[in-house]
Amino acid sequence: MGMFTGKIGLVMGIANDRSIAWAMTESLVREGAELAFTHLPSPSSERRVRQLVDPLGPKVLLPCDVQKDEDIAKVFKAVQDAYGRLDFLVHSIAFAPPQELRKPYIECSREGWHLAMDISAYSLVAVSRAAAPLMPEGSAIVTISYFGGEKVMPGYNMMGVCKAALEHSMRYLAWDLGRKGIRVNAISAGPMRTLSSAGVSGFDEMREHAVRKSCLGRNVDPEELGKAGLYFLSDFSNGVTGEVLHVDCGYSIVGL
Ligand code: NAD
Repeated sequence: MGMFTGKIGLVMGIANDRSIAWAMTESLVREGAELAFTHLPSPSSERRVRQLVDPLGPKVLLPCDVQKDEDIAKVFKAVQDAYGRLDFLVHSIAFAPPQELRKPYIECSREGWHLAMDISAYSLVAVSRAAAPLMPEGSAIVTISYFGGEKVMPGYNMMGVCKAALEHSMRYLAWDLGRKGIRVNAISAGPMRTLSSAGVSGFDEMREHAVRKSCLGRNVDPEELGKAGLYFLSDFSNGVTGEVLHVDCGYSIVGL
């Protein structure tokens, strides 16, 4: 019997087995959670995600582009029909056009900025609004951020501004949903090699710097992010909402 036995969750943001959302999934499944999933609406995304999650026998595995309200509505309707409720939601989604990230922030286009903000920050608002009616008291939502939303990390550019918006949206959502007994928190993860991070210029340098600078002298392990997810999504964090937890081996506290 795991600490999530009998709990139903939705995981949004698996692209492949390197995704932070997959690390969360592995921890949650180990603890007995029953999970629903979404994938980007493309045959290759569907194939990759199906390969990973089919053995878990999800009742819901649907395409969802978070820029489309109708996709979001279909997913939450399917969750309602299959399970009747939702105990937790993992939002692990971001995107900015790589060519925009390569430019200095001052050069980013209006279209690129809107697109990145929509997918990386507004999507948390949209999916929280759709999830809330299904969530009983004691439910929880978690999203994934990065230190580049607090401090200027050269190369992270527009995505840093998206993470600042994401973190503050998370706090306003924590307020709006707090009286319903729904908690909303963020994990600020240390740098990990994933599909998304491949689009960040100078990412390898960031990772090496994180190893040199962090208190623990290493980078974070995916399993450590999964375990931090368990904390925020379980009753171990019942008194915690609107919080950003740095799971970065102590990188963010060092002023170097
Ligand atoms: P990833 O590429 O595996 O995951 C990003 C996910 O976003 C993918 O599953 C992708 O399909 C999804 N996505 C993009 N556009 C979408 C859209 N329009 N609709 C629905 N889904 C969409 O990379 P990851 O590193 O696991 O990223 C997950 C989260 O973690 C992101 O918010 C990222 O910014 C954050 N993060 C990553 C790192 C890192 O170093 N990798 C560090 C801190 C925070």
